[in-house]
Amino acid sequence: MMLLRYLFGVAVASLLGFLLLFGLQGRRRGRKPRAPAKAASPRAEECGSPMAGDGPADIIVVGAGVAGSALAYALGKDGRRILVIERDLSEPDRIVGELLQPGGYLKLIELGLKDCVEEIDAQRVFGYALFKDGRNTKLSYPLENFDSDVAGRSFHNGRFIQRMREKAASIPNVRLEQGTVTSLIEENGTIRGVSYKTKSGEELKAYAPLTVVCDGCFSNLRRSLCSPKVDIPSCFVGLVLENCQLPYPNHGHVILADPSPILFYPISSTEVRCLVDVPGQKVPSIANGEMANYLKTVVAPQLPEELKDSFISAIDKGIRTMPNRSMPAAPRPTPGALLMGDAFNMRHPLTGGGMTVALSDIVVLRNLLKPLHDLHDAPVLCRYLESFYTLRKPVASTINTLAGALYKVFSASPDQAMNEMRQACFDYLSLGGLFSTGPVSLLSGLNPRPLSLVVHFFAVAIYGVGRLLIPFPSPKRMWIGARLISVSG
Ligand SMILES: Cc1cc2nc3c(=O)[nH]c(=O)nc-3n(C[C@H](O)[C@H](O)[C@H](O)COP(=O)(O)OP(=O)(O)OC[C@H]3O[C@@H](n4cnc5c(N)ncnc54)[C@H](O)[C@@H]3O)c2cc1C
Repeated sequence: MMLLRYLFGVAVASLLGFLLLFGLQGRRRGRKPRAPAKAASPRAEECGSPMAGDGPADIIVVGAGVAGSALAYALGKDGRRILVIERDLSEPDRIVGELLQPGGYLKLIELGLKDCVEEIDAQRVFGYALFKDGRNTKLSYPLENFDSDVAGRSFHNGRFIQRMREKAASIPNVRLEQGTVTSLIEENGTIRGVSYKTKSGEELKAYAPLTVVCDGCFSNLRRSLCSPKVDIPSCFVGLVLENCQLPYPNHGHVILADPSPILFYPISSTEVRCLVDVPGQKVPSIANGEMANYLKTVVAPQLPEELKDSFISAIDKGIRTMPNRSMPAAPRPTPGALLMGDAFNMRHPLTGGGMTVALSDIVVLRNLLKPLHDLHDAPVLCRYLESFYTLRKPVASTINTLAGALYKVFSASPDQAMNEMRQACFDYLSLGGLFSTGPVSLLSGLNPRPLSLVVHFFAVAIYGVGRLLIPFPSPKRMWIGARLISVSG
């Protein structure tokens, strides 16, 4: 029976792999962007010179989180005069952005920011371990063809951000200022700069030909620059487990629990982060003890034995929560301004893809801006930058789609067809070889091919139906198979 299922899986994947390799490969490259219709006049002295004191900036960056700091460094290194305005320059203490996928690490290298994961006790991550109903399977990142240094990295988000801010501030023409941007300054449909409030309460204005808004998931500036359709399917409840040995060291752990997945991954040499997904927008109250009770009675019994004691001890040390937002990229191209990072596009954080998408977007933007010396013709620049939305798609859409699909598939459901899909997905990934490395390389940002995602998605669905029909299809199994196809559509 197992052999039959395995052979069926191999047959399905070989067929789809054949189609992928010979039919459609080679078409994925994004178009090269056209230069602006009217070439901007080069003013090398303007963008190449350091920003003297309070002199004018070429680019204002709002927010110095993951996206803003990386962008300021990348563009500052290219000679732009950058003014970064960040609400709070002290070290953030958050439960977000703690696992950088290897694809994101490659982008960090490309941006010259690789040392930001050094000296912060960051841990290397080599893949995931998946747990379901007492079984588990290891899914390694396919890193064989990369330098030995390339792997995922997990860390304290605040330490990573401080390193990125230090790197940005080390460039003479980048200036970081603490202040809260209150609005964008608009003149005749073009953004000319920002109004902001300094730490001492002073209200100031700053002007630049381009403003990049990177104010994160709670952005209050994005409203005028995109259609913010924010969905909040669930919340993460965060705990820190101390001195606990993970069943698979240096791996992310995903427990396919009921009602939804639970994550564990190291964030330092002595701490493990646990994120418990709670569907919906409301979580049990921490204040009145409902949350602790939920974690002890509903979550703990579903964990691997090795983690239970540390998990229960961690409950009393502090519980944090964070809404899991998802927002498609729906920009309203506006002369003089751009959105980046979570302010622009968010996906469910289950697969830890947010920083990888943000860093990948920054590489695309940096490369687009490189040949342009003058940013002053805002409408021309705006048209030129429209290619950004096309060029970012292979990485962003692969990671975003996978995050949403896996969150649905990995959650328990009263629908038997959905549960069949969940089991099929676990078993498919457990087959190993191409069946695990394919999806994992998509998730990790190492293989940004939407087509490959489609192939694996259908392979899982066909595998699920095949398992139901082999060896003896009954009418009930055929009905569940048909439902499985419909829920995967
Ligand atoms: C629970 C959770 C877990 C996650 N885990 C992961 C993970 O493991 N891996 C991963 O890759 N991604 C993860 N993500 C996503 C990741 O955190 C984000 O994609 C990433 O932080 C986006 O970076 P950003 O710079 O856009 O936003 P942020 O890093 O949030 O930075 C925004 C910055 O803007 C500043 N700011 C805000 N408003 C203003 C203002 N008005 N004026 C001036 N400054 C302002 C803020 O102070 C902040 O410093 C997770 C998300 C969530 C919700």
